[in-house]
Amino acid sequence: QRENFVRVVRRSCYSLVAPAFLKEKDSRPRLVAWCPWVAEELLDLEQNERNKEFTWEVFGGFRVLESSDNFTYAQCYGGHQFGNWAGQLGDGRVICIGEYINQKGERWDIQLKGAGKTPYGRFADGFAVLRSCIREFLASEALASLGIPTTRALCVVETGKDVLRDLFYNGDVKPERGAVLTRLAPSFIRFGNFELLAYYNDLETLRKLTDYCIEHYFPEFLEATTIFSDDNNRYALFASRVVELNAEMVAKWQAVGFVHGVMNTDNFSILGLTLDYGPFGFLDRYDPLYTPNSTDLPGRRYCYLNQAQVARWNCQKFVQSLISLYGGATVFNIMEKFDETYSSCLSNCYRNKLGLLTWNEETDKQLVDSFLDLIQTDQLDYTNTWRMLGNIQTSDEFPQRHFEQYLISRKRTLDSSRKEAWNAWIHRYVTRLWKENNTNDLLRKERMDKVNPCYILRNYFLFKAVQLAESGNFDEVENLLQVISNPYEERPEWNVYSEEPPEWANVVGVCVNSCSS
Ligand code: AMP
Ligand code: MG
Ligand code: MG
Repeated sequence: QRENFVRVVRRSCYSLVAPAFLKEKDSRPRLVAWCPWVAEELLDLEQNERNKEFTWEVFGGFRVLESSDNFTYAQCYGGHQFGNWAGQLGDGRVICIGEYINQKGERWDIQLKGAGKTPYGRFADGFAVLRSCIREFLASEALASLGIPTTRALCVVETGKDVLRDLFYNGDVKPERGAVLTRLAPSFIRFGNFELLAYYNDLETLRKLTDYCIEHYFPEFLEATTIFSDDNNRYALFASRVVELNAEMVAKWQAVGFVHGVMNTDNFSILGLTLDYGPFGFLDRYDPLYTPNSTDLPGRRYCYLNQAQVARWNCQKFVQSLISLYGGATVFNIMEKFDETYSSCLSNCYRNKLGLLTWNEETDKQLVDSFLDLIQTDQLDYTNTWRMLGNIQTSDEFPQRHFEQYLISRKRTLDSSRKEAWNAWIHRYVTRLWKENNTNDLLRKERMDKVNPCYILRNYFLFKAVQLAESGNFDEVENLLQVISNPYEERPEWNVYSEEPPEWANVVGVCVNSCSS
């Protein structure tokens, strides 16, 4: 029985629901954006599928494939939002339309976001606006191209139905174009799925769900022995691996300057995937207190600086929710994994970003910290300044020359004391490179250019692409998709995409977004 009235769901991990537009008569679906490599490599779809009305119907929530008819569902989960227990949340506007095993044997869950209200919709309408679909579509592919674990995006389909949202920070309400995002992941199971069952003390379902996850996503732990001493150590190994994966994910966010914006536990994946893109943002000028989420503005709980600490807090909530499966003593041991993994993964990222061959946890960390101090003080662009480091040459009598050229190209000037501070740092860096005989400047640049992107998904470009899309022109969405999927390869025709935001873009309400649009 598929019923989508809002309710509390107990002893269950999901509810069967149908997409909202199956009987829609007044509007037709229309394709906005399509990701060719996701279609081909993940779903074995031929490229001409993008032109078929049938495809738009399936991914717009206007039609259900026969093979999944009566089996489309929404997940039940809870979570901590902004540090507070929020009770049942669940997929309020997300419907899983099936699972596909591709030619490579990979399993992909396929979800429609914005396809109508489910039992978990609470006070909201179950729909999504074009703006938020395009944002998630581009962001998930941007992170994937940067080598950061993430859910993926296949396409955005317009529904032809308007959705009411408060578009502006001042609270004005305006109808916006409605759309549906199709996203994929091997699993969309979140920390919140476990937290809700633990909260209800439904230990039977909790164990069932955990067994399911181990069997399907971590089968290596089915036969696992020791390290955690009790007989239920497979659960501890599972929890520990989940913590590790999430520590790695957040270290990679830090390295690239990605700020998620809504790091609630219901947005944290057991596979360590970046999940649920709302008011995210990449750093432009380096500001550790940057948060892209207007709802987060006074507290800045989810700002760049806090992300690791919050991820750790989330992991702890997850690990605690499984306590009935392995006992309290294990929680502490598992959480140590977070610190180890985060710190070694981040160091590894920085080593690569600096082009170093070796790493000294103390002195090289200091080298990075003073670099970050410099770009913070001088308000330089996070992405572009890292990229510039690849041009510095050990063979150069004046290695700071490339930094000076960089300032000129970005129309920035520094006073002489600041220039001296930079000179000192660059000399320290070059000395460090000499010390490990890292003097092949060409090779080092080649390595560094593969980890320091020149193009990231800057909020103001996304904003412009969305504005155009809202007027019916999807060209800029397509352009951005091409640019962000080649983040390391400089192309003269793309120069504009590495430019820092103009002043108009730094106004709240323009590029700062709120949750749940
Ligand atoms: P989020 O902050 O986006 O992670 O969402 C928190 C909760 O609100 C989740 O349970 C979402 O499914 C739900 N939600 C967000 N937006 C909507 C919407 N437009 N309609 C129904 N539920 C929503
Ligand atoms: Mg969410
Ligand atoms: Mg969301």
